[in-house]
Amino acid sequence: MKYSELQYERIDVEKRRNLMKEYLDKFSNAHSVDDQINVILDVNEQNKEYHSYAAMASLNFSRDINDEDAKAEKDYYDSIGPDMIEIGDSFEKAVNQSKYKDELSKEWGEKFLTDIETSLKTFDPKIKEMLKEETNLRNEYTKLTAGAKITYEGKEYNLAGLGPFHSNEDRNVRKASYKARFNWFSENSEALDDIYDKLVKLRHKIATTLGYDNFIELGYMRMGRSDYGPNEVANFRKQIVDHVVPVVKKLVQKKKDILGLDHLYFYDGINFKEGDPKPKGSPDHLIKEAQVMYRELSNETGDFFDMMVEEELMDLVNREGKRPGGFCTSFPKYDRPYIFSNFNGTDHDITVLTHEAGHAFQCYSSRNQPLLGYLWPTMEAAEIHSMSMEFFTWPWMHKFFKEETDRFKYKHIAGSLSFLPYGACVDHFQHWVYENPEATPKERNQRWLDLESIYLPNRDYDDLHFPKTGGVWQGQLHIYQMPFYYIDYTLAQTCAFQFWIKNEQDSEKAWKDYVHLCNAGGSQSFTKLVALAGLELPFNDGCLETVVEHVSDWLDKVDPNKL
Ligand SMILES: [Zn+2]
Repeated sequence: MKYSELQYERIDVEKRRNLMKEYLDKFSNAHSVDDQINVILDVNEQNKEYHSYAAMASLNFSRDINDEDAKAEKDYYDSIGPDMIEIGDSFEKAVNQSKYKDELSKEWGEKFLTDIETSLKTFDPKIKEMLKEETNLRNEYTKLTAGAKITYEGKEYNLAGLGPFHSNEDRNVRKASYKARFNWFSENSEALDDIYDKLVKLRHKIATTLGYDNFIELGYMRMGRSDYGPNEVANFRKQIVDHVVPVVKKLVQKKKDILGLDHLYFYDGINFKEGDPKPKGSPDHLIKEAQVMYRELSNETGDFFDMMVEEELMDLVNREGKRPGGFCTSFPKYDRPYIFSNFNGTDHDITVLTHEAGHAFQCYSSRNQPLLGYLWPTMEAAEIHSMSMEFFTWPWMHKFFKEETDRFKYKHIAGSLSFLPYGACVDHFQHWVYENPEATPKERNQRWLDLESIYLPNRDYDDLHFPKTGGVWQGQLHIYQMPFYYIDYTLAQTCAFQFWIKNEQDSEKAWKDYVHLCNAGGSQSFTKLVALAGLELPFNDGCLETVVEHVSDWLDKVDPNKL
């Protein structure tokens, strides 16, 4: 069945509330653990249905933010979100008080109950209205950024559409296009500050209402993190400063030589004089090549990607009215994932075909996990699947980049490594923000600049006013939409690099471990999944250092002038 043929409907909250009452009755009157298990599985099916319809409503709106009907459906699901959490919360409370807890834990592993305990700590009916407000503010950010109309060289673009100019081989084009981007941000900075200010204060209030000192602890629980906290993360950030920042400095020097520039500005993001490698061929052609690639990589990926194509589970090309960015979502009722992106003719288009397909492949591989909560792991684990898939597909990159393949690989590794300090900077910034909820927008920008000097000491914005005054973080949607979702990319990248190294040494074993990890879905916590995949935990002292050494050696051996 094609995506467009999948059944979609609105869920009736009152019906759900009444149905839940019946389930709660059955659950508390159960005479055996098996009876309780059956009720849990029934509720699980209901949840799958709800999450599928909500995901479809959200996706349809992302595909066309000007479609009034799609907007109405998305608004509907947004509006019932907190009620549905409340209904789910009542059942989780009952499960948490079950007399068969030990048996339930035996049935589904300890994560089943820790997930419920964590979830219970993130909600109380008292915060329901505030959650609605939070959703509205998030939506305001989406509406504002997705609706950006930027005039550049006499033509109108959205933020994603302007992207290719930022990596143009002509420095003037790069700078002018960034200027256009930042002018838009500057004109909207008051609105963006206002949305963020409200979000921070609201999240702080939600946290204190639930009994926390500030939003940080709650933020970690919302991310489902059960086996590490801010201390481990702070220590990991420090390792990035110690081991990655110096290597990135060396890469900057190398880039100056390649580009023949005395000094690099923010807008000199390209890696080669002639510009960054570009995919060869139309989007349709690229997808056909990807289909051949996934067939050759393995049977599992071949079947999976054919299904994605045949059932039209991808919307890849940028067009007006489409929400910016790329993501993978899923409809658990139908056991199907979906990939959304904005192809714009850059090498990033291929990374979508590998990164988002990595997410989708994992989600499809774990479809037989017994519980909805086991479909997706927490995000730092989920990004391992996507970022590692970027590396597992390396042997096929010539299909997309032809004579520029080696350039792509150099850029991929250099870029992945250089990303780590940025990721840590975004994370550090958010910790500060939620520790200081009363800070003014100006103080926030100043703090961002201070952190940039630690993590990104080579950044020079030239005379681009907006980023120079510390506003550049406003373009990072995670900071608005999903607080604390960012260090995940750096933790996962550290794991993905390990797969890259393993794949060089023993590709068969590496792929087996990877598939094993994908099948496990979210059935275990991050640290356990890392162990299951045979990888070293990024928090361990020495882990990042060893990985960076290997990556740095590889980069040293490449002479980019000969690429
Ligand atoms: Zn991802």
